[in-house]
Amino acid sequence: MTTIIEEEAPKKSLNFIEQIVENDLKAGLNGGRVQTRFPPEPNGYLHIGHVKAICMDFGIAEKYNGICNLRFDDTNPVKEDVEYVDSIMGDIKWLGFHWKNLYYASDYFQQLYDLAIRFINEGKAYVDEQSAEVIAQQKGTPTTPGVESPFRNRPIAENLDLFQRMNKGEFPESSMVLRAKIDMAHSNMHFRDPIMYRIILSHPHHRTGYDWKVYPMYDFAHGQSDYFEGVTHSICTLEFEVHRPLYDWYIDQFADSDYRPKQREFNRLNITYTVMSKRKMLQLVQEGLVAGWDDPRMPTVCGLRRRGYTAEAIRSFIDRIGYTKVEGMIDVSLLEYSAREDLKPKATRVCAIMDPIKLVISNYPAGQTETLTTENNPDNETAGTRDITFARELYIERGDFMEDAPKDFFRLSPNGREVRLKSAYIIKATGCDKDADGNITTVYCEYDPETKSGTEGGNRKVKSTINWVEINSSIEADVRLYDRLFAIEDPSASDKDFRDLLNPDSLKVVTGCRVEAALAQAKPLDKFQFLKVGYFAVDPDSTPDKLIFNRTVSLKDTWAKKN
Ligand code: ATP
Ligand code: MG
Repeated sequence: MTTIIEEEAPKKSLNFIEQIVENDLKAGLNGGRVQTRFPPEPNGYLHIGHVKAICMDFGIAEKYNGICNLRFDDTNPVKEDVEYVDSIMGDIKWLGFHWKNLYYASDYFQQLYDLAIRFINEGKAYVDEQSAEVIAQQKGTPTTPGVESPFRNRPIAENLDLFQRMNKGEFPESSMVLRAKIDMAHSNMHFRDPIMYRIILSHPHHRTGYDWKVYPMYDFAHGQSDYFEGVTHSICTLEFEVHRPLYDWYIDQFADSDYRPKQREFNRLNITYTVMSKRKMLQLVQEGLVAGWDDPRMPTVCGLRRRGYTAEAIRSFIDRIGYTKVEGMIDVSLLEYSAREDLKPKATRVCAIMDPIKLVISNYPAGQTETLTTENNPDNETAGTRDITFARELYIERGDFMEDAPKDFFRLSPNGREVRLKSAYIIKATGCDKDADGNITTVYCEYDPETKSGTEGGNRKVKSTINWVEINSSIEADVRLYDRLFAIEDPSASDKDFRDLLNPDSLKVVTGCRVEAALAQAKPLDKFQFLKVGYFAVDPDSTPDKLIFNRTVSLKDTWAKKN
């Protein structure tokens, strides 16, 4: 796979699926009706790849006055759970989409079973008692024909009897399957007598319990469900392109009108430095390699939300990448760019000191405090201002002071150079205290009372401005610095097990940070820009006594640099 860096289109032209829909509408297909569906299997949480499909399915319906239904593709009780059903519905709503009807493939278990009986009666399906391994071996290759099962020409009555007894639970799992009788030499491998039904006895279905002992396979369930519902455009990802002829074939066997749902495929979303597969994500969760599905390093919708991404940021990212027929890999820095663009006008600017050191202003009266005013967001005129407390003792960033500073160090040093305390006064360092090990414990300075920001003296320019918080009013916080989950661009393409490719530095927890008092009121998922550091969101585990912030993205923009 190559890394594709897609350009932001200044004026949106139609994507190729929209083009198809417009052509269908012009041709008067389906009486001008547009109906799509989003069909997740409830076997995991939604990831950002699913969002690409969601934006397409719901977007097409919205744009062409059609409807989009949510259909859970719940045909494999072994892996599915209502926990996933609930999270998927919550995530779709959070993204800002609304389905017209809620369906489940399991709504059609009876209809699908009846259809299977019809196939058997028409000599189009048979019960095969061979093992899965033997059936796979007999498939052949694209260039050599497959081998017909010895059970292929069983009499119809026997097939009927066996299939009905399969569903009564008379036979153990894996002992037999129902196969469509098509063509073991077909050039499309999917036509070589595909499996229609299998027996599952050991797991209850999350909706139908133990009612059913046989369950339809994806290919037999999906197209039929589309047909039962009246879907016009069944949009999915490219790996299903080779299934499309079978999708059509099944429907052609029973359809009693001209109406046909049409399957269309677009390229999957893959992003660098992560994996985009529910199966792999489940492994990461189950093996404790991440803190859960909503670990802020996960590419899940709930992980991104906890990380501080808004629905708008995710949707604008999907808009930027577009839809094509070419598989590729999207640079994660484009996702990060989308977060910055979105948060810039939304996130309140605050001071947070990550590695605090005490600053004493020797000529500021002890016990005195004053209230200063600071802008909430210079990138947003409507964001207003807030009060901050100033006093003699502050915390500043340890890295903003140097005792013996080189010439090009423009921050605080006892070398006569002036710096401004953000939204406050100009100061000059005078010296520092150290502990027995030589670590600096306190920095001393003097301020110039004539230089208060917002007054005439506040206009005096100095080389640098540094962040601070007032000691007594500031609050302690833990800050979780997240980085990419994997150490290499494409963990799925490596020969190594993907779990051995995790980035060991994907999470650093910084304790003992000091943030300004205003943050005491912050609620989970509130978003801030820590000046000079990055964008941060309040973690849901945060409490007023113990604030926890997650880094959404740093300020440094590697995306803009690359372009
Ligand atoms: P995974 O491989 O992660 O398990 P899946 O394809 O099995 O995903 P489904 O729940 O079957 O997951 O997917 C629901 C819909 O989302 C399908 O239409 C599928 O094509 C689409 N989809 C899944 N992954 C992606 C992706 N990475 N990019 C775009 N669409 C995706
Ligand atoms: Mg799937």
